[in-house]
Amino acid sequence: GLAEKLQSVFKRLRGKGKLTEADVEAALREVRLALLEADVHFKVVKDFIARVRQRAVGQEVLESLTPAQQVIKIVHDELTQLMGGQQARLDLGGAPPVPVMLVGLQGSGKTTTAAKLARLLARQGRQPLLVAADVYRPAAVEQLVTLGQQIQLPVHAPGTDRDPVDIAREGVAEARRRGRDVVIIDTAGRLHIDDALMEELERIRQAVAPREILLVVDAMTGQDAVNVAETFHRRLGIDGVVLTKLDGDARGGAALSVRAVTGRPIKFVGLGERVDQLEPFHPERMASRILGMGDVLSLIEKAQAAFDAQQAQRLERKLREQTFDLEDFLEQLRQVRKMGPLDQLLAMIPGLGPRLKDVTVDEGELRRIEAIIQSMTPEERRHPEIINASRRRRIARGSGTRVQDVNRLLKQFAETQRLMKQVTGAARRGRRGLGNL
Ligand code: GDP
Ligand code: MG
Repeated sequence: GLAEKLQSVFKRLRGKGKLTEADVEAALREVRLALLEADVHFKVVKDFIARVRQRAVGQEVLESLTPAQQVIKIVHDELTQLMGGQQARLDLGGAPPVPVMLVGLQGSGKTTTAAKLARLLARQGRQPLLVAADVYRPAAVEQLVTLGQQIQLPVHAPGTDRDPVDIAREGVAEARRRGRDVVIIDTAGRLHIDDALMEELERIRQAVAPREILLVVDAMTGQDAVNVAETFHRRLGIDGVVLTKLDGDARGGAALSVRAVTGRPIKFVGLGERVDQLEPFHPERMASRILGMGDVLSLIEKAQAAFDAQQAQRLERKLREQTFDLEDFLEQLRQVRKMGPLDQLLAMIPGLGPRLKDVTVDEGELRRIEAIIQSMTPEERRHPEIINASRRRRIARGSGTRVQDVNRLLKQFAETQRLMKQVTGAARRGRRGLGNL
């Protein structure tokens, strides 16, 4: 992928020590190829390389003590700029209820994103109402109603034999009546852009005057996603983009080109099918991710949202003093469930991702683990190393599990202990690394 390619270019550059203009030129040629292969728009690549070259080939950089570092910093800055520089927030100003309209091709992730966004806003203290204005597929209405139940938020869904423009307008009125302050309108999509679709979306726009029109595009479609964005923006005018399926094997091109081609920022990214897998888009963090610096800032933010500071400190001390025991492990698993999947979280740390297969836990597994740990004596929880074969049999019997389950738990615990040590180390190193980048 793009990240691997760029990382290997810069690794070679770093290995050189002193750099000549020719070294930088050679590296830039490889960067250019890597970006094109990742499906970044060719004009975007051309401008990008020109900007980096202009800054990187000067005396100041080449004669500095850390020329490779400087070149990487310039690439990092320019990547960040390319994606808009600052985080672009949703604008929900104006008199409530504030309408937000989601548009995009069929299958891009509109309905899923509508629910994810509603959930995110609800967690920020907003009171969203979802509106099902995709009347062409009964399944689409049902899907939104089901998602609404799942996230416990109301859905205005009068059915499929109505004009979507009326549904949208009524949705806003309904929100006003019920004191909801944001209205998220899910609209129909087609497989390809066509006039009928655009006209319908234009009519909805005129009827409800959305504060934000968010275009939902599938990152896996690469350059097509960018073309779609350009067309939607030209026909409808969009305020921002939600890039979905970034968890798939997207080549990164869409994330890098959308802003430059449409002039509109990516505001959110979808990282999975679940309703909690939507995140605000941070250009700087994305650049770090692409350059292989790990997304340590996201990681820290996530961890902070889930742990209270005291608990985190206590945990860190325990890890440092190596007194992290099975009771902490249980507490930890419960915390991790609040944060989202452990594998996704730890995958943000460079070099850690692939080793995590054994650590993922689901609900049933967690209940089993709880039962097993509860069947241990306090002494055993603090010193798992004393748990011999006969203790394992006793614990299995007591918890209604099998000896293999106890064995697996003890193995997972040992693995987690090891990983947690790396995580605290990596987070510390990462923070330092980004600091003097
Ligand atoms: P719509 O036709 O635009 O409303 O698209 P849907 O919301 O129905 O989504 C189409 C498919 O993409 C569904 O299977 C979703 O679960 C899936 N999907 C949506 N967003 C994401 C994402 O960020 N990651 C992944 N992996 N799948 C997603
Ligand atoms: Mg839909």
